[in-house]
Amino acid sequence: TTRASVVKAPTATSTVPGKYIGIADLPNQVLGDVGVGKSTLINSLFGVDVYGDDYVRAPPMRTGETVQVERNVFRIEAKGVRILVNVLDVPNFGQALDNSTTADTVGKFIDQQLHEYFEASHQKRSQVVREDGRVHCCLYVISPTGHGLRPLDIATMKSLGVRTNLIPVIGRADSLTMEERETFKETIRRQLKTHEIQVYYFPSDEDKDDSNMESTRTDEDMANLVPFAVIGGNTFLTGKDGAKIRVRRYPWGTLDVEDPKYSDLNLLRRLLLFHHLPDLVGITDGLHYSNYVREFLSRTIG
Ligand code: GDP
Ligand code: MG
Repeated sequence: TTRASVVKAPTATSTVPGKYIGIADLPNQVLGDVGVGKSTLINSLFGVDVYGDDYVRAPPMRTGETVQVERNVFRIEAKGVRILVNVLDVPNFGQALDNSTTADTVGKFIDQQLHEYFEASHQKRSQVVREDGRVHCCLYVISPTGHGLRPLDIATMKSLGVRTNLIPVIGRADSLTMEERETFKETIRRQLKTHEIQVYYFPSDEDKDDSNMESTRTDEDMANLVPFAVIGGNTFLTGKDGAKIRVRRYPWGTLDVEDPKYSDLNLLRRLLLFHHLPDLVGITDGLHYSNYVREFLSRTIG
């Protein structure tokens, strides 16, 4: 956990959001306890159905440990942006009796992807088309306990933060009242600071052309969006205009999960997919991958 913490994003590579960006292969990782709402979040965030046709389940990848990594590939197309997203899910996260090696295992998995990319860069001198299996972003889904982060969360996030762009998210945020949610968010922000967990903060300066709220947000505002509180849903209603609305149904009513009053889902999607994809890739290149290569070389060459 001693890697550099310079988080200055190099400028974008070939991907330009808002335009057709071709097919970028962008692995994301989703981590969190069983039942915290990870699969539902992926469905809601990417507008896909993990059990539907636009979903290809690749064989699980072995990490050599009890923790397995599942890979789901999604093709997403929205607002003229086409992306191939590679979502990694660790289904048994936190389920072992002894979770003391879990953080290491997850860290090793990310390092392994960085290493494969490094190896490939030696094999293909041209470097023109290189399959990018690196994890560019990890959504860490925190259980909505209201009690703050557990030692497992802290250890895992510490390990993740120095290897990839870590975005903490509170899952099933409807379990908390709005007051509880704010207090919980503050507690988590304090813990992130105390434990020196390196988090990815969306930059504030790239939404100038956006008429939405983000254009007036400062860096501090962006930092205070963390952890994003999300509500996901797998059911649909048909709106007046015939559009499908993704909702969560309760015995007493129905909630539109896109409603910014209750859920950061829409905001997170906008920032993640439509504004800052190149930034995430840029930081992988300029920070996490560089750090990995530097450490690897100093380890092997001495
Ligand atoms: P995973 O094990 O982390 O992948 O969790 P799932 O997405 O499978 O969700 C587990 C259960 O929680 C399911 O019954 C979901 O319908 C429910 N769930 C998912 N997201 C939410 C949410 O935002 N709020 C509430 N109340 N329940 C949710
Ligand atoms: Mg799941």
